[in-house]
Amino acid sequence: MDNDVTKRLMDAVDTRFDEQVSFLSELAGHPSTRGNEQSAQRFMAEQLNDRGYETDSWEIKVSDIAHLPGFSPVLGDYDHAINVVGKHHSRSRRGQSLILNGHIDVVPVGPLEMWDSPPFEPRTEDGFMYGRGVGDMKAGLVANLFALTALKDSGYQPAAEVYFQSVVEEECTGNGMLACFQRGYRADAALIPEPFAEQLVSAQIGVIWFQVHLKGKPVHVLEAGSGFNAIEASLPLIASLKTLEKRWNGPRHCHPHYDDHDHPLNLNIGKIQGGDWASSVPAWCCFDVRMGIYPGQDIDQARAEIEACIDEAVDKDVYLRNNRPQIIYHGFLAEGYCLADHNKREARLAIATLENAHFAVTGDTLKHAAITATTDARFPGLYWDTPALVYGPAADSIHGFNERVELESVRRITQSIALFIAGWCGLEKL
Ligand code: ZN
Repeated sequence: MDNDVTKRLMDAVDTRFDEQVSFLSELAGHPSTRGNEQSAQRFMAEQLNDRGYETDSWEIKVSDIAHLPGFSPVLGDYDHAINVVGKHHSRSRRGQSLILNGHIDVVPVGPLEMWDSPPFEPRTEDGFMYGRGVGDMKAGLVANLFALTALKDSGYQPAAEVYFQSVVEEECTGNGMLACFQRGYRADAALIPEPFAEQLVSAQIGVIWFQVHLKGKPVHVLEAGSGFNAIEASLPLIASLKTLEKRWNGPRHCHPHYDDHDHPLNLNIGKIQGGDWASSVPAWCCFDVRMGIYPGQDIDQARAEIEACIDEAVDKDVYLRNNRPQIIYHGFLAEGYCLADHNKREARLAIATLENAHFAVTGDTLKHAAITATTDARFPGLYWDTPALVYGPAADSIHGFNERVELESVRRITQSIALFIAGWCGLEKL
């Protein structure tokens, strides 16, 4: 790409950057937690329509995707889980097609009093925007859109099909991205601007979610000895899972891409509920677990090991042995993915194209990083033989309090994405 075009695209991002920040602020004002994404998705669909893209909005149905590789189980069907795709059609189709993907769902905010300002009233201070989801990953989603707009403002459009995707369910199953595939959206590469500090994600781990349900024997506390406390019974089970976590992170299990990580596979007891009354021995307890697995680690085998580890703790207790806890999988059954090992010419080409774009914008070499989380990149990467590049802005406290994204980083990412689209898809005059 000649220097003149590079400069025009970067200038075009600068020109609209204030508008881009306002757009992000408005989008982040929609509280799009799981099950509540509809207003944010309506906003995205309207914006895509206004910009002249053919827009497809649809409701995900479990029965449409449950048979596909990478599906994660959910309890019941979805209630108004809406995906939105904006389609760019090229006249010449001489370039390589592209999926620009981002997720609209955000995680719960937690106790409001721990935020300095309301999480769904985004505010900007000292070059950062604060609010739930601004980093993870509405800034990236908006960067995709404004990168396309920068092409248009410069008098160009991609010389290949581009699918702009705003999906739900990234934070719990990935079934939103999976539903895009089922709907027929395929391309030669995918770009997902998740907030990993302007680095290219070379490897991501897999994630398994499960619930453990324990039943107790409720009696009045005055005769507690004859009852069985379901909450207290969860403690040895959790301790046993912690030993599994330790074993999987042990040196024998380490993975080539995670050699320099001390503890890549994190077990999290994310939620616990149980009991009904302070003076009644609790009759029930349920806890939710998130466990990481290495890329290449078999999910069924990992599940068997998890179950064996719980069984071992259960067998040590006479009551539990006869009243075995139930393990329910709902949410992530996600394999890991390594872009670095993606054995396809297009993968190397896409990485080189992004490296050039990143260098043109920042003057730095693109860093590659293995992350200890999952992203939707595993779907194109593992199941559709499509290299998936995760590359987005710098953000702090994602999933925590006072989540924030660095706006200058968003500007650079948007410029890099615009250059990447131009390099990957090629350009045709408007
Ligand atoms: Zn995310």
